[in-house]
Parts: sequence; structure tokens; C-alpha cells
Amino acid sequence: MNIFEKDSAFIAGTYARFPVELVSGKGSLVKDRNGKEYIDLSTGIAVNTFGIADSQWINAVTEQLTKIQHASNLYYTEPCVTLAELLCQRTGLKKVFFGNSGAEANECAIKVARKYAAEKKGKDYNVIITLKNSFHGRTITTLAATGQDVFHNDFLPLTEGFVYCEAGNIAQLESLVSSNKVCAIMFELVQGEGGVLPLSQEFVDAIFEIAEKNDILTICDEVQTGNGRTGALYGFMKYGVLPDIVSTAKGLGNGLPLGATMLGEKVKDVLTPSSHGSTFGGNPVACAGAISVINRIDEDLLKEVNKKSEFIVDSLEDAQGIKSVSGMGLMLGIETEKDAGEVIKYCMDNGVLVIKAKNKVRLLPALNIPFELLEKAVEVIKKGCAL
Ligand SMILES: *Cc1c(COP(=O)(O)O)cnc(C)c1O
Repeated sequence: MNIFEKDSAFIAGTYARFPVELVSGKGSLVKDRNGKEYIDLSTGIAVNTFGIADSQWINAVTEQLTKIQHASNLYYTEPCVTLAELLCQRTGLKKVFFGNSGAEANECAIKVARKYAAEKKGKDYNVIITLKNSFHGRTITTLAATGQDVFHNDFLPLTEGFVYCEAGNIAQLESLVSSNKVCAIMFELVQGEGGVLPLSQEFVDAIFEIAEKNDILTICDEVQTGNGRTGALYGFMKYGVLPDIVSTAKGLGNGLPLGATMLGEKVKDVLTPSSHGSTFGGNPVACAGAISVINRIDEDLLKEVNKKSEFIVDSLEDAQGIKSVSGMGLMLGIETEKDAGEVIKYCMDNGVLVIKAKNKVRLLPALNIPFELLEKAVEVIKKGCAL
């Protein structure tokens, strides 16, 4: 059996993979089994922040690996404490809970919001407003938070207590707040899986005003938008707001599983011993790598990210076969006249890896992708859309 046949024989059928086996790479270049090279604009879905086999990250990770690879949360280890301090200093949030994935980071956020409200307003204040077309994860609770029926259908009943608001609809948000006992409003600033759709400044301001007025918590899911992806360290910084809770994962670990739930002043002491936990959470190797990632996301790098973003948007916006480009920073969605799948296949055949988000072609290049590679990739995408 070849790898495709073995995969379908032995791996649960949850993924419709591209017919490519990736074996190695460096930075924004990656090779498949046959030695074919690609420019990688997919970064393992916004995970490989500094590309593949990045040497600074490898050094940070391997140095820790030779000391201690795991200790459990029964003991202190240094990397997770240093990372937490760094995240708090850089964001203005006050405490961090570490898990291993985006879904877990959101689970923690939801638990914190419910516990805060239960203690402050009463146990019946448990409703969380999320947005239609959102994506918050695959566990039963984060699926409930995900405002898309297609993800729900086969898995009912889901966790109770979620209601959905149309993104941008302030009147509906107000009416949901007044007709439910709401503890939190949860949202992505750019709906990634939903088609790379940024929320408007007006709607984000309304969320924060309504939340403030009604003592409702704001939960910002920055699993995809976080860690420099939008051209700010966290997307909320682009909107000039400070959420009560920020969840992140994907790009934080640069490829090792790591999630973080950052807690603001109001909720920093909600979690108490045994109210939550994780065996792997705060793993020293993953955290050592993440420290190196966060330290490199400085003003200079973010300027680069915004410049690259502008370059992509300027090159593609009015190109033939392209209807629109949406998104922020290096998280962009291209609405194509042709079927997005066809464009993705053309790009793959011609040495560029891009992925899908709904009906769009999604670009998530490494933050440090060299300009020359980006220029080459954009030319291929242009051709793929124009044909
Ligand atoms: C990917 C993603 C998740 C889920 O993350 P996992 O690590 O796959 O659990 C949650 N929210 C958003 C916005 C995401 O993009």
C-alpha cells in the first residue's frame, strides 16, 4: 500500500487531504515526497509563524528538550512562567491558563465566563452570545459556540446556553442581551474558517459598549488571528479594545501544540485549584519555543507583516478573475470568479500551497516569508485566477 492507501485504511476519515506528502522544508519552502518544492502560504493553517524548521525556534525547543521535556502541573517549571509573564506584559491581560489547542483555550474561556457570572450574578446567567458563521473548535462545547449548523447536525445534543448573533447586527445583539441571561459575548475579530471576514470597527465598539453597560464579559477568540497574524501582536490591538478574555493557539507554538487563555483584570482570579487543569498544558518544550516566537514579534516584524499584506492586496485586488480580497495582515481571503478549489489545485501544480476558507482561497504565509518568494507566489495565484 502507498501512503494514501494506508492513510485511508488506518486513519479515521476526518480529513479530505490534498494528494501531497510533505517531508521537509526550510522557512517558506517545503518539499514533497517526490522532491517537488512549493512556496508555502498555508503554514499548517496559521501555525508555522516563522515557517518550517526555523533555526531560532529549533534552538529554543531543543535546548529545553535536553533539560526536561514534561513535568506535569504538579511542579513548577520555568518556561511556562516566563511565557505567561511575557504575554501579560505584551497584552495588558493579567494571568494565563495554558492548554494544548484552540478548542481547549476556548473551553477554558467559556468555563471562566460561566464561573465569573455564577459567582457574581447567579448561576442562571450562563448564556453566551457567539456570532453566526463563527468557528470556535470541535469539542461538543466549542461546537455549540460555533455558529454554523453544518458543524452541529450529527452531534446533537450540544452543550446548552449558546445563542447566535449575526456579525454586524447591533440591534440583534442588543435584543439577545435583553432577552437572555448573558454572561459573555464571544467572537473572532476576523472570522477565519468562515471566509476571512473581519468584523467592522463599529460592531466591535458596540460589543464592548454593550458588554460594559451590562457587566457582560468579552471573549476574543484569537486562535487564528493571534501572534502577529493580523499585523498586530493580537488582533484586538488593531481595534483598540481590551477584551476580558483572549484565547489563542495555532501560531503561538510554531508547530508544537500549545494554547493559551489570557485573563483580564475582572476574571484573573476566577480559576481556583481544581476548577480547571490540563496534564500537558504549559509543556516546557512548547513554551520554550513560544517564548522565542513572541519575542520575535516586535514592531519591526509587524511593520513587515503589514507591508507584505499591502503588497498582496494591491497585487490581487483588481487582478483578472478576482472579485475581492478580504482579511487583515497575513490572513487574507480571495474571492475568485472560478471555483476556489480549481485555483488551489492550479497553485499546487505550479508550486504554491494555499488553502480554502468557505468559497475563498485563503493565504496564511509565514510572517517572515521573504519578499521574493511572496512575489513569485502572488504571480502564480494571479495566473491561477485569470485562466
Ligand atoms: C483553528 C481554530 C480553532 C480550533 O483550534 P484547534 O487547535 O483546532 O482546536 C478555534 N477557533 C478559531 C478561530 C480557529 O481558527
